[in-house]
Amino acid sequence: MKHLLFAMMIGFPGFAGAQALLDFRNDLAFNPEAVEAVAERAYRLRLRTLSDKGLLDTDPVLLSRLRGIIAKLQPAAQFERPDAAAIRWEIHICRLCNENASAMAGGKLLVGEEFVAELAFTDDELGYVLAHEMAHVLAEHTREFATYGRFFVSNGRDRYYEDIQRELDESFVVNLRMAPIYAEQELEADYMGFILGARSGFDPEAMPRMLRKLHADTAFDFSRHPAATERMQRALTILPAAHRIRELGIAEQ
Ligand SMILES: [Zn+2]
Repeated sequence: MKHLLFAMMIGFPGFAGAQALLDFRNDLAFNPEAVEAVAERAYRLRLRTLSDKGLLDTDPVLLSRLRGIIAKLQPAAQFERPDAAAIRWEIHICRLCNENASAMAGGKLLVGEEFVAELAFTDDELGYVLAHEMAHVLAEHTREFATYGRFFVSNGRDRYYEDIQRELDESFVVNLRMAPIYAEQELEADYMGFILGARSGFDPEAMPRMLRKLHADTAFDFSRHPAATERMQRALTILPAAHRIRELGIAEQ
């Protein structure tokens, strides 16, 4: 709801940028530690598999570039969500791994080398790619998805997180039913990522440019994401506010 009031709010003379703009749910089921433990295991397994094949972190220049962008985004993440200070952000890159960019609960990111190379992302564009991924983590989208998942699996209210997550990972039918929730999370990550990126000083014009590149490229599968036009329209609506937020940054007043 906050973003609907947002355009009005920034027009007020009193808006100095000192207040957080994002809100986060506090009604999610399951223990966040349980969600993060499952993500941690899956992330380590994936990294080990990639590493064994020699496909992990083979481009140190790109890796340090991405780590620099994550470091630049972190203060804004903590400004919007103070308990994000406890997140141990981690990012790796892989090649020939069928990956664009992904984030797992607890702050575990993975980016495909070909994805960055093929779309020739600038640092500002990458800022918004990674801010979108960080937003999934900050908004606890994995935990939220499983919270909704309880209503789509049998006997969901009486089952443990890990058990439900396994069914979500495996069931085509359940995922199909939950596709609207997935799409809503993508739009929310776009919105939150736009705010985080702008607060961190990345050029807001790079957000619609990044979306245009993503959806023009058929080599990468964005079929589970909302329509390009919807993502673009929403980004353009927020664009003027994002410029203002960038000017203010993390105001100390
Ligand atoms: Zn996403």
